Amino acid sequence: MIGLISATAAGAAARDRLAAAWPDRTRVYEGPVGDAVRAAFAQCEQLVCFLATGAVVRLVAPLLAGKASDPGVVCVDEGGRFAVSLLGGHGGGANGLARAVAEVLGAEPVVTTATDAVGLSGLDTLGLPAEGDVAAVSRALLDGEAVALRAEVAWPLPPLPVTDEGRYTIRLTDRLTEPAEREVLLRPPTLVVGVGASKGAPVEEVLALVEGALREAGLSAASLAELATVDAKAGEQGIVEAARRLGVPLVTYGAGELARVEVPNPSDAPLGAVGTPSVAEAAALLGGGELLVPKRKSERADGRPAMATCAVVRRPGRGRLAVVGLGPGARDLLTPRAKAELRRASVLVGLDQYVDQIRDLLRPGTRVLESGLGAEEERARTAVAEARRGRAVALIGSGDAGVYAMASPALAEASDDIDVVGVPGVTAALAAGAILGAPLGHDHVSISLSDLHTPWEVIERRVRAAAEADIVVTFYNPRSRGRDWQLPKALAILAEHREPTTPVGVVRNASRADESSRLTTLAALDPATVDMMTVVTVGNTATREIAGRMVTPRGYRWQEEPQ
Ligand code: SAH
Repeated sequence: MIGLISATAAGAAARDRLAAAWPDRTRVYEGPVGDAVRAAFAQCEQLVCFLATGAVVRLVAPLLAGKASDPGVVCVDEGGRFAVSLLGGHGGGANGLARAVAEVLGAEPVVTTATDAVGLSGLDTLGLPAEGDVAAVSRALLDGEAVALRAEVAWPLPPLPVTDEGRYTIRLTDRLTEPAEREVLLRPPTLVVGVGASKGAPVEEVLALVEGALREAGLSAASLAELATVDAKAGEQGIVEAARRLGVPLVTYGAGELARVEVPNPSDAPLGAVGTPSVAEAAALLGGGELLVPKRKSERADGRPAMATCAVVRRPGRGRLAVVGLGPGARDLLTPRAKAELRRASVLVGLDQYVDQIRDLLRPGTRVLESGLGAEEERARTAVAEARRGRAVALIGSGDAGVYAMASPALAEASDDIDVVGVPGVTAALAAGAILGAPLGHDHVSISLSDLHTPWEVIERRVRAAAEADIVVTFYNPRSRGRDWQLPKALAILAEHREPTTPVGVVRNASRADESSRLTTLAALDPATVDMMTVVTVGNTATREIAGRMVTPRGYRWQEEPQ
């Protein structure tokens, strides 16, 4: 719960906007601010105070107990311009809260925690349990000291400025081990424990079995990702409660699915009871991975038959491929989600000129694999190969990465052993449309005039179809030094079905420093003024030039329709 406290009318107005945006997560504390802050501090995980930072510092100072338990506190100034992460930046989540509050209120987030300020993730913010001297190793990373990363399992970590050797170490491990001096252990969720139990198996028995199996195999319970069992046991209290106490989800599978998994120790008992020769081993192995602990039975002090079985599997870390569109060029047309993905990736793959566009956003430690024009297939292969090694990869493209760009060759190459995330970008046709006016107000298509990968007959057939169907057309890759006859030919086909006065918009370098645009007509367009930095949008028979802008009506009855 997030406690909201304000003192002035302006503060209360901002507070109400936040409360309206997050109705289920917030609670407004009214009354004298001193009492309100004290009550919220005691009752909430986080506070947003619409008060001066000085006032809040004085009020919370006597209440501070420690980093681990204090709530995160964010202050918003009277003008609603800044959301300041004041207390509990990492542990209390105030840095993230400041960003979220800023997003809702249209304010600027202010975060001063060192690791965030230099754009480096604090080791306690990676979403993985961390053990050891987190503060000292985080500080060493910040100070540029040598910190070695020892990854015993593959995991798509965000970028960290690490070296091969160093006085400090980060170990990515699911083994049961204590952190050494100047060492942090990161616990990736790699372990899956399959569990079977007969009806009424006590939770203590299940829990002791699971914990014993992990301990004896030298594995850390902090790396446990989930318990897995058969659907028929989804409500078995001993299993449900064991998962809850271990703090992991319980995943269940159908008996038919489990029966198809090849296991080393099948038996008749579960086959009769639930319809699969293996529950524990099959449920653990179903998502793939290596069986570290074969089926074992629980032990009972009273010598009665065991009521539970378990098996432990290590799943390979799944790499992550983000296919990110950078937009047409301008920084403020790069979406916040794209920015977040660029900072999430430890490996960035892209054309050198696009990498230059966003290099300043990358976190220290990001490995950049850039290549020149042309090497498309190879870039796609490289990105996928890096993800298959368990890394977090961003493959970038200008505009939208799925439009005449890298997404298709990459996904044609990718198998289902990696996670893929797509981030849409503002494609050139849209960027140009906004500059020209409203040329895409009715049905429209994009056609690439590059016959490098597509035979000209196919392109011509599509241009003809668009011409006959009276669809607005945006030409990508319209003309290069070696390809100069295609654009005139395509325009001639359109001219067979549209007036010579049909508006044509030509936009070069949309949203870039040397942006230029022109509104002309089918008859007047000089193809020599068009190059590969340009898109050309040809209107339909209803498109008009109005006040210097290109406008395609929404329909013949457009003036009567609500817009
Ligand atoms: N993925 C890109 C398109 C790549 S094809 C996108 O979604 O925008 C390359 C062609 O896109 C160029 O030849 C040009 O026609 C067009 N293009 C890309 N960026 C542009 C920009 N900023 N201004 C004008 N045209 C652009």
